[in-house]
Amino acid sequence: MAKKLFAIFGNPVSHSKSPLMHNLAFTGLNFDGCYTRYRLEEGERLRETLFTLGLKGINITVPHKEHAYEACDILDPFAQKVGAVNTIVEKEGKLYGYNTDAPGFLKAISEFKEVKTVLFLGAGGTAQSTSSILRDEGYEVTLLNRSAKRLEKYKAEGFKTYTFDDFVPSKYDLVINMTSAGLEDDSLPAPQEILDHVIPQAKACVDVIYGKETPFLKLSKSHHKPTKDGSDMLLYQGIIAFEYFTDHQFSFEEIKPYMQKAFTV
Ligand code: NDP
Repeated sequence: MAKKLFAIFGNPVSHSKSPLMHNLAFTGLNFDGCYTRYRLEEGERLRETLFTLGLKGINITVPHKEHAYEACDILDPFAQKVGAVNTIVEKEGKLYGYNTDAPGFLKAISEFKEVKTVLFLGAGGTAQSTSSILRDEGYEVTLLNRSAKRLEKYKAEGFKTYTFDDFVPSKYDLVINMTSAGLEDDSLPAPQEILDHVIPQAKACVDVIYGKETPFLKLSKSHHKPTKDGSDMLLYQGIIAFEYFTDHQFSFEEIKPYMQKAFTV
């Protein structure tokens, strides 16, 4: 059988750890696959590009997760519900779409016990799928965002939402940075006076940004809180995608030790 080819599509995509993660798992598990990266400029060409390159599966990162959703023939019910696809598998000419970001995130925060209330700082694309899965699992999610515009659809779905101007703080078990604040700058995801109020009451603080200690995590540590960055979320979404790519030939626990090596090399 021919080697199966996979890729990550995004723009930019040069920083992505996904090729290393998946190739380590292919090698470790003796699966005849190869995973590369592809900078896709026009999201509308996602489907055509996948077929032209002869790919059996792709992951999709910023800014193409909504285009990925549009490109699929068959959607997993959760991907359909949240309108975002980050994993596509090609089978007999049809494209099957999944969202592995949200279950990856859910697994990443599962180490924090007795958590009921969660404050999301940010209301972008990642917040959309993760807030939905958390709510399905029985968490109470409140969203606090810089601008009002992005909060509209959350409000319509029944989430409690605030901007910095109308925030009425409460006690939250987990405070999570879902923004890109701190990714390429030194900004906090919300005004410090708000954070200095909610962090001390939290059991732990989480950031979806990985590979660096953000100002949000630094501030959380200064309040002596347990913290966690986005590395496990990245790892776990990758493992779940790998399960789809290899048609569930390998279990989560079999894949994990190989893919995890990408975070230590
Ligand atoms: P979006 O562009 O969809 O949303 C960005 C959000 O961040 C908005 O709510 C925006 O607020 C807010 N924001 C941006 N800059 C600031 C700032 N300086 N201060 C306050 N709020 C700000 O991004 P995504 O949801 O796609 O990604 C969010 C983060 O998640 C990124 O850092 C990304 O790297 C990370 N991520 C991590 C993953 C992992 O596996 N660990 C997987 C996917 C994403 P506004 O509405 O006011 O503009």
